[in-house]
Amino acid sequence: MKKHLLLFILLFTLFLSACSNNTTAPVQPKENENSTVETDKGQINEQTNQVTEEENNQASNQGKDQEVNQQTQTDQNVYVVNPKTFKIQAKKPTEQKIVLLTFDDGPVGDNTIEILNVLDKYNAKAIWFINGFNYGYNYQPSPKKAEKFKNNLLEIQKRGHLIGNHTWEHNNLRNLTPEQTRNEIVKLNDLIVSITGEKPQYFRAPFGIYSEETYKVLKEEKMQPMNWSVGSLDWELKNPEDVVKQTVSTIHDGANILMHDKEVTAKALDQILIKLEQENYKFVLPNQVDLNGLE
Ligand SMILES: [Zn+2]
Repeated sequence: MKKHLLLFILLFTLFLSACSNNTTAPVQPKENENSTVETDKGQINEQTNQVTEEENNQASNQGKDQEVNQQTQTDQNVYVVNPKTFKIQAKKPTEQKIVLLTFDDGPVGDNTIEILNVLDKYNAKAIWFINGFNYGYNYQPSPKKAEKFKNNLLEIQKRGHLIGNHTWEHNNLRNLTPEQTRNEIVKLNDLIVSITGEKPQYFRAPFGIYSEETYKVLKEEKMQPMNWSVGSLDWELKNPEDVVKQTVSTIHDGANILMHDKEVTAKALDQILIKLEQENYKFVLPNQVDLNGLE
């Protein structure tokens, strides 16, 4: 009997103790009803694992970042422009095929923004060789054009592209006097600087025709002449599909592609860039081209 009494007292005490715990213990969510200790351990383990995973992710992301940075850093210094063919060349031997995109005769307006939007889709940057006549003829602002010109120029700059000089009036430079030649180049540089704060580094002569005086002014202005190695023929062709065919069929490694700020080009560009990407071409960032590395 004594044993039974002792057992009863023991069980009763345990029962009271359990009741007392129940009244003071916070209500646990249902999934924690089973052994709290185990759950706690599990939670601790989970947390520890989470931390480890986070640390791993951080470490692996840092690794990726370093990789990307290394690639960017390497890429930034390895391209040069051949002064005869105007092809882009990698300084260090590489298997990577490359192209440089350029747009002349802008900024016109709606087409400019459409082209910028397509370029953004592919994270592709270009050199925009612009003309002063889009701001106004004879070196004077046109009330209708000037504001649009400024906004477009700032948008091009904001989206990470380079602005080059394509003369104010787009004349054949060989038909101009030395003073006219100087104005064509320097007055446009001054206008671009007044809007963007940056002086153009590259110059493309209208029709690709240079004169002795042009080279003299470019030297003084510390600018590089740049023609092209692939013509999209978007200045002749009316159908966007023909512009795509012409550009893609004449593409080559290091191509410096001449396109224009035109509607037909804006419509053709997406297809051109898709096809170039499919053929594993990389779009060289203009600021990756080493200006002092002209060969
Ligand atoms: Zn032009």
